[in-house]
Amino acid sequence: MKEKTLADYKAMQERCCNCSYCKWIPLDKIKSNRFAYNCPANAYFKFNTYSARGRFQAGLAVANEELDYTEGMTQMVHSCLSCGACDVACKISRYNLEPLEHNIALKADVIEKGHTILAQKVMLNTLATEGTLIPNMKKADRAVWSEGLGFKDLAKEKAEVLFFPGCKYGYDKTLKETLRTTVSLLLNMEADLGVLGESEMCCGGRAWQMGFEKEFSKTADINISKIQKTGAKIIVTPCADCYHALKRLYAERGLTMEVLHVVEYIDRKVKEGRVTFTKPVNMTVTYHDPCHLGRQGAPFVPWNGTEKKIFNQIHTWEPRRPRNNGANGIYDAPRNILEAIPGIRLVEMERIREYSWCCGAGGGCGQSMPAYAEWVAGDRVAEAKSTATDALVTACPWCNGMLSKAVGKDGETMPVYDLLELVARAL
Ligand code: SF4
Ligand code: SF4
Repeated sequence: MKEKTLADYKAMQERCCNCSYCKWIPLDKIKSNRFAYNCPANAYFKFNTYSARGRFQAGLAVANEELDYTEGMTQMVHSCLSCGACDVACKISRYNLEPLEHNIALKADVIEKGHTILAQKVMLNTLATEGTLIPNMKKADRAVWSEGLGFKDLAKEKAEVLFFPGCKYGYDKTLKETLRTTVSLLLNMEADLGVLGESEMCCGGRAWQMGFEKEFSKTADINISKIQKTGAKIIVTPCADCYHALKRLYAERGLTMEVLHVVEYIDRKVKEGRVTFTKPVNMTVTYHDPCHLGRQGAPFVPWNGTEKKIFNQIHTWEPRRPRNNGANGIYDAPRNILEAIPGIRLVEMERIREYSWCCGAGGGCGQSMPAYAEWVAGDRVAEAKSTATDALVTACPWCNGMLSKAVGKDGETMPVYDLLELVARAL
């Protein structure tokens, strides 16, 4: 598969009309000035260059050799969380441009020219040596979380479902019990479940988000081959980042298997009447849509066409390109589960579904620019607290980690739950 370069986005760079819609959620969705902005990089650094609009302009100037990568430019390029909020806003409000793809291409270009952040190099080294992007973790410890659970080992036998926990769930000791409980729940739902065990490795999604396209491609190709060989029919993952990589990025590279986030799997079982929540969980909650489960969790739609100009002026595509505006992401499954649990009442935040605000973990910024990432998480926590609910719930271990870290910073705490913890309580 041929990777696109910055030069492939020239028409889009020229076609961006500088309208700035990419900095805001759509006008008809705005409920307050406080939570109207959508681009964390632009909101934190307070320069237009940090928005998708500015990135198009900077990318065009680089492509035209009018601008070099200075230290400031490098920071700007890497500060994009790859959250995709600009992408949805641009497609809803204006044209069918691809700001997110362009942001990634700009990162790949700056990396190609030798400008990376030290923390990114450490992550990439760990990926090469230990098969994970989480520094200090070891390949040999990959399957420790699953000891004693009685899984099928897909290297030796067949199963219908391949369970893919991902690095964060697999290595983070604070999440181990939630993960083990989840798997026990799935086994109780009579899921025919297997794992890759020690041969599992990182999905590489975070490498793609950071612009390390070669490293992502290598990781994805190894994983696709391993996954196809298992003969499983469905992959289930509890991680939003893995979900996006497996469902969108791997599909683009030829993976044909059905990919479900665990909330979709559980929602399906509830609808089939195979699972009933019997124990009340009495609390009001608000729900945070993970970027890579929500707007970036929409299915991959292939398009093979060409770009052309009408009257040598207006850029267009033949045939029409699909408009991936995030509307088909996974929003209902987690809400259905919350509604099905007796005692839970959901109160929504202002920026939800495809207009959700990022948790700060995207693009590896949690590691490479921690102060900025924590500010982003803090903004989401402030929005969650404005709902006056008892708890903040999400469905991604990365979001959970960022939000949990930010939650007590203003002196007022608020419990943060993975939806799976509430599911376990309700059964
Ligand atoms: S919304 Fe799209 S066209 Fe408008 S400034 Fe942003 S990237 Fe450019
Ligand atoms: S992907 Fe997110 S952080 Fe990056 S420019 Fe778009 S809205 Fe801003």
